Amino acid sequence: MLGAQIAIRFGWLNFILTHWGGPRVDMPTFAALRFGAEKHKMERLESCLDFLVSEDIYPHYRPMQSAGTTPEVMIEGRPLLMFCSNNYLSLSNAPELKEAAVEQMAVHGMGPGGSRCLCGNVAVLNDLDRTTADLVGTEDAITFPTGYMANLSVFRGVLDPFLADGIPYKKGQATVFSDEYNHATVVDGIRLSSAKKVIFKHSDLDDLERKLRRSGGRGPRLIVTEGVFSLDGEVSPLPEIVALAERYGAILMVDDAHGVGMMGDNGGGTVEHFGLRGRVDIIMGSYDKALGGMGGFLAGRQKMVDYLRVAARAYMFSSAPSALMAGAMVRSMEMCMGQPERRQRLRANARMLMDGLRAQGFTVYGDGTVPVAPLLIGDEAKAVVFEEKAFELGVFAPAFRWPAVPKNTARIRVTPMADHTEDQINQAVSIYSQVGREMGLVQ
Ligand code: PMP
Repeated sequence: MLGAQIAIRFGWLNFILTHWGGPRVDMPTFAALRFGAEKHKMERLESCLDFLVSEDIYPHYRPMQSAGTTPEVMIEGRPLLMFCSNNYLSLSNAPELKEAAVEQMAVHGMGPGGSRCLCGNVAVLNDLDRTTADLVGTEDAITFPTGYMANLSVFRGVLDPFLADGIPYKKGQATVFSDEYNHATVVDGIRLSSAKKVIFKHSDLDDLERKLRRSGGRGPRLIVTEGVFSLDGEVSPLPEIVALAERYGAILMVDDAHGVGMMGDNGGGTVEHFGLRGRVDIIMGSYDKALGGMGGFLAGRQKMVDYLRVAARAYMFSSAPSALMAGAMVRSMEMCMGQPERRQRLRANARMLMDGLRAQGFTVYGDGTVPVAPLLIGDEAKAVVFEEKAFELGVFAPAFRWPAVPKNTARIRVTPMADHTEDQINQAVSIYSQVGREMGLVQ
């Protein structure tokens, strides 16, 4: 009897032991026997950490005394040139944005008080949706506190039936075709849906078409690519991908986190750059890169957006973006559209940086369409030493290495901002050249 009671509480192991006169096994011991000792759990994590450190892929989290948004920053108490910021258009510190944020904060406080459908639908969020749609050239847009949340919501929202009844396809019938270089947030979002995932080779149209042709079935198909692959300084072959999506009746989504603001005459992103407005079903973007703030969005036709307002789970179940950020981002987008000179300055700076680095003998990815300068080092360990040495001499830009990029293609993604001066760019090039020579990477 006693054995049975213990068995109910601690499982079959205690039942057998106590019935047969063995030692009583308390809950922690039982858990340890069943799941592996606490010590072993830590050992697994420790061996993982050891591996990351030995492979030089554990990131350095340097204490920074200033946000990484200005051409010069204070890190570990030292002034450094900042060459890895996503604040491409130098909008983050614009006084107009700060004023707009303070104005909203003075009226609405810090947080939204709930999700959009509860009580967080403060009017400035509707302005944020509207201005976003204007910027990227769609009928409407919905907005999230981060771009990650937009990507986590979109695949399940669009591809899994929202309600079981009255929907002409079932869970698990959809297929997503995803570029192999797509960002981790896209990868995670696809995992949250029941869709089958098909990876196509990076920007390889033949591979994509072959895979589209092979996939039959009744469920919806969705192609997803980034607009700008910023680690490679590349723009995607979007016109050809649009043609394939149209030919095969697939929904097309572009993660344009790095393209919005930076690409297109009005900053509308890669879709505007290629003159493809109205032909991409979902444009995903982020406010924390060229727009200098924080948050993310999904933009598209009215019906798509109306549907996402109920089906995107992070929109439904997480708090709305704050009014202060929304106010600042509305202002930022207005400036982005109205001040093309910011994009011109960014492009001129990128050109100077790329030409300068190439003149020193470095390999820099990209043909200049995308204003970033990914500087190839190759070997992972060398990239870390390169980063360290440049840091010591006064430039901050960490190395991207496997698994973020393929093995032996470690690189420094050197990113200019609109507000970098000629002098700062020349200094960075000369520091990189000194380090490159010391390490025998360039002559
Ligand atoms: N997509 C891409 C291509 C990104 O680079 C990022 C951020 N690094 C995201 C999505 C996520 O955006 P957020 O930082 O706003 O969450």
